[in-house]
Amino acid sequence: MKVLKFGGTSVGSAALIARVADLITRATATHQIVVVVSAAAGVTNELVNAWDALQQGALDVPALLARMRQRHRTLAHVLGHHAALRRGYLATLEETLSQLARVLRMAQSQNAKPAWRDEVLATGERLMAPLLAATLKARGVAAFAQDATTLICTDARHGEANVNLEATRERVQQWFARLGKQTVPVVTGFIGATPEGQTTTLGRGGSDYSAALLAAMLGAEVLERWTDVDGLYTADPRKNPEARRYQTLVLEEAWAWNHAGKLGMHRKALDPLVAAGIPVHVRSTLAPEQPGTWLLPADTPQTLVG
Ligand code: ADP
Ligand code: ASP
Ligand code: MG
Repeated sequence: MKVLKFGGTSVGSAALIARVADLITRATATHQIVVVVSAAAGVTNELVNAWDALQQGALDVPALLARMRQRHRTLAHVLGHHAALRRGYLATLEETLSQLARVLRMAQSQNAKPAWRDEVLATGERLMAPLLAATLKARGVAAFAQDATTLICTDARHGEANVNLEATRERVQQWFARLGKQTVPVVTGFIGATPEGQTTTLGRGGSDYSAALLAAMLGAEVLERWTDVDGLYTADPRKNPEARRYQTLVLEEAWAWNHAGKLGMHRKALDPLVAAGIPVHVRSTLAPEQPGTWLLPADTPQTLVG
C-alpha cells in the first residue's frame, strides 16, 4: 500500500483537485491507497489571521464565513454535474462553517483559549477532505473523508502538539484493518486530538508529519509527497534560481537537513519514516511526469527506484 499526501498548493483550485483525483484514481489500479490532504492553499493563513484579528477585537465573522463559503463553493465546481455529491458537499460546508462560527463567537465572548484556536485552524482540512473524497466518488472510487482527530492522539500542547506514538499506532492499525482493500480514506492532515477528544494541531506544515505517521504505522511501501515543485532541491527553488534538484537522497541524511529547516517540510516529517525505514518520493502535482526526488533508507536496494 501507499500513502499519498497532497499539500495545499496541490488542491488550491477546482482544476488541481480534479488532477489530484485523477492521480489517486490511477494509483488505485496497482495499490491500496491512503490519502492525506491539507487545506486549500491560503486557507490556514486566513484562519490564523482571523484568529489574530479576533484577539484585537477586529474580526468580522460574517465576512470571514462569506469568504470561506465562496472559496469552497468555487472549489466545489470540480464536482461538475454530480448533483447529489455537490449537494452533500455543500451541506458539509455549511455544517463546518456553523461550527467555525460557534467557536469564534465563543472566543469573542470569553477569554479565548488555545484549544479554540486549534478548532478554528482545523477548519481548512475539514473542508478539503470531504471535497476530495466526493471528487473521487464522482470517478467511481469508494472514497470517504476521515477526520484525523480519531486517529492522531496528542498531548494538549495546542498549536504544536506532541503525538503519542503508541496510542496513535494502535488506533491507526485498528482503523486500517477494518477498511476494505478498494476503499480510499481521505484523511485530514495537520490535526489530531487529546485523549479527551479536544482538537489539536501539529504545527504549520503539519500534514507532512500526519502523512509520515500513517505511512510508518501502516508499513507503507512508500510515502508519495505531492507538492508544487518537482522534488527536493539544494536550496528553496522559489528563492534561489541556482538551486538543483536531488535525484535521490539518503533518508537518514535528509532527516538531519530537514531538522535544520533546509528541505521545506515540517521538521518532524521524516522522524517516523526513518524509524520505520519507509522511502519517500517527492513529486510535483503540476508536473507528475517528472522523476521527482527519492529519499531512500540507507539499506534500500536501489532497484526500488523507478
Ligand atoms: P505543500 O502545499 O505541498 O505542503 P509547501 O509550500 O508547504 O507545499 O512546500 C513546498 C515548498 O517548499 C516549495 O514550493 C518550495 O518553495 C519550498 N522549499 C523550501 N526548501 C525547499 C527545498 N530544499 N526543496 C524543495 N522545496 C523547498
Ligand atoms: N494547512 C496547514 C498549514 O497551512 C497544514 C499543512 O499545510 O501542512 O500549515
Ligand atoms: Mg506544506
